[in-house]
Parts: sequence; structure tokens; C-alpha cells
Amino acid sequence: MVGLAAYHLTNLWALAEWTRKPLGSPLPMASGLWDLVFSDLSRRSRLAEAQRRHLSSSLDQFRSASQAMPDGAVYLSEGDAIEWANNQAERQFGLDAQQDLGAPITNLVREPAFVAFLESGQYAQPLLFHSTRNLQATLQIQVIPYGDKQKLLLSRDITQIERLEKMRSDFVANVSHELRTPLTVVRGFLETLEDGLDDYDPEQIRHFLARASEQTQRMQRLIDDLLSLSALETGAPDPEEEEIPIGDLLGEVRQDAELISRGRHLIDLDIQQDGLLRGSHKELRSAFANLATNAVRYTPEGGRIALSWRPLTEGMAFTVQDNGIGIAQEHILRLTERFYRVDRGRSRESGGTGLGLAIVKHVLSRHQGKLRIESTPGRGSTFTAVLPIRRFMPVNGK
Ligand code: ADP
Repeated sequence: MVGLAAYHLTNLWALAEWTRKPLGSPLPMASGLWDLVFSDLSRRSRLAEAQRRHLSSSLDQFRSASQAMPDGAVYLSEGDAIEWANNQAERQFGLDAQQDLGAPITNLVREPAFVAFLESGQYAQPLLFHSTRNLQATLQIQVIPYGDKQKLLLSRDITQIERLEKMRSDFVANVSHELRTPLTVVRGFLETLEDGLDDYDPEQIRHFLARASEQTQRMQRLIDDLLSLSALETGAPDPEEEEIPIGDLLGEVRQDAELISRGRHLIDLDIQQDGLLRGSHKELRSAFANLATNAVRYTPEGGRIALSWRPLTEGMAFTVQDNGIGIAQEHILRLTERFYRVDRGRSRESGGTGLGLAIVKHVLSRHQGKLRIESTPGRGSTFTAVLPIRRFMPVNGK
């Protein structure tokens, strides 16, 4: 009897000892009934350990999936306390996932629109919100309630999309404005003539018609440029490449410039390295001619314009140098934006559409080239189109 009690007591003691040890410690050895108890406990403990490991690995996987998401993700528990946030969310909301853990998100992101949205319980429509904690980014916030008073908060940075949308609407506004002005002039002339054709002598009528014709040409130029730009921008297939004799190409460009100048400028052409340029004749001619005719248009009568083709360390360069009105530094970076002009009136007067340099930039980038602009107001400008050296096959001679 005493022996049996001692047997049970020793094993019970061993069991009590074991429960105090860390999880996963081996169970004590025993015999008889206690052996059965211990091996059953051991099996259950192994099972529980396996389940715990499985759970923890699922949690790790789930966290790395949330971490890899391009959007911000914050898990909120009751009272909107932060349970976990991925790096994107930390960046977008200016949070520190370690330090801010457990704090209500509304204590950290205090913008009234955000707080009101979170508290409203109405999450069918996402919230557009300008974060002040993070450099004025625009965030789109979605909240998905789940479980017991828990929420998943997803945030997407749509600053870039918003900027593109603004560019698109500015573009439409610009095009409409550019077309409306000449159209109004033409309509004005037509109405004047309609109302009193007999009031004007043929000389005056000819004058009206000439002005109206100028305006229609302006609209035509604008539409042509818009179509070229749209073809270049909407992923037109790569240009059909030809091997273009550089002398012929630049000869044509010089002629285009002379046509616009009508003898008012001195236009030089210097080809330092003759050869064949591989690219689209149509596109390169339009880009180079744009640079050359701009030089004419922004250089007063009597000015000099130097066109040159020469090797540089980073590629082959077509340079147009003028001693015209020049451009102030603050405008230079923006000149290739569509419709960006330093002086709207002057551009229009000389037949500009404001799209020329945008076209040049696209053409060059389709040929893996780039545009460099240097200028001093009142002294003149130098526009250089640099094309990769591999596009050029020099021929002997010069
Ligand atoms: P635009 O049709 O108005 O000339 P561009 O896109 O060709 O449009 O040029 C944009 C602006 O850059 C022009 O409006 C003008 O202000 C400036 N610009 C371009 N080339 C020159 C130049 N050679 N000298 C001075 N300003 C220039």
C-alpha cells in the first residue's frame, strides 16, 4: 500500500517538476500506468508544439506577404490600436511600427478627415486624403472590418496618378484654348463679311481673308503637332530605321531654317564628321528642324545661327547655337513640357505651337538620345541633341 502511494507520489512529483520546465522538455521516464500518462502527455505536447510552429510559420508567411504588398497595410484591434503595420504604411503615415504598437492610430494620424472616416463605420467608398505627416502625398484609404472589432486599413499612394490626371486635364484645357483663339478670329472675320460685304472694298476684304487664312494655318500646325506628339507618346512602333547620310539630312534642316529666316539671319553648317546616321529620317528631320527653326524664331534679324555635327565623348552631337534672345535659367528645365513657353505672345507671333521641344524630346528618347540646353538671356542659346555613338557610321574623308 505504502509502495503504491510512493510510486504515485514520485511520478506526480516528476510530473509537477516537468510542468515547470520550458515547453518541449522531455517527459520523465515511468512504468505502468504512469508510463501511459507520460507518453500520452508527450504525444500531446509534441502535437501542440507542431501546431504552434505551424501557426507561427503561417503568421510569418502572412506578415511577409503583407510586407511585400505595394500598398500600405495596418492591422487595427479594438479602439483602432495598431497591431501591426507594414513598411509602406510606416512611410505613408509617418509611423514607427515598433514604437507606435498598441497606440490608437487616430492619436498619431490626427487629420480630421481621416479620424472622421475611421470613426464613421461607413467604408463603402475609399477616402482620399492628403497626408501632412508625409510630404503632402495623396493617399487612398480603404478600411475592411473583420473579426471582432478588428480592421484592416489599406493605403495606396496615388500622388503620381493624381499628377498625371492633372496633366491630362491641363492638356485638354490648353488644346481647347489654343484652338479657340484662332477660331474666334476666323469667325469674327467671316461674320464681319457676312454682315456687310458691300461695306468693304476688295483691298480690305483681301486683308481679312489673309488674316483668316493665317489663323487656319495656325490651327493646322497645332493639329499636325498634336498628331505627331500623340503618335510618339502612345507607344507608336519603333521608328523605321534607315541609314541617313548626315550631310543630306543637315542640308535639309538648314534649308528649313533658311525658309523661315527669309535671309534675315546668317546660317552656318559645319559637319566635322561625315557618315551615316541610323534612325528614322522623318523623325530626326522633324526634331533637328525644330531646333534650327526655333533658333531663327527666337533670334532677331541679323543674328547668327551655327548648326554643327561633331563627335563628343558621350555620343554624336547635333548642335544649334544662336545669339538670340536667350532663356532665363528657371525656364530651361520646363521647356520640353507640352505648351510650356517663356513668352506666349512671342511664340504665337512667330508661328509657334508650344509643342516643338516636347516632340524633340520624344524623338530623341526613341533614338536613345538626349537634349541639352544652355542659354544666357540676351546672349543666346545652345541646344544640343546627343545621339549614341553606335548609331553613327563614319565615312572616310572629313
Ligand atoms: P514654340 O512653338 O513656342 O516655339 P517649343 O516647344 O519649340 O514651342 O519651345 C518652347 C519655348 O522654348 C518657346 O516658346 C521659347 O520660349 C523657348 N525657346 C525654344 N527655343 C529657343 C531659342 N532658340 N531661343 C530662345 N527661346 C527658345
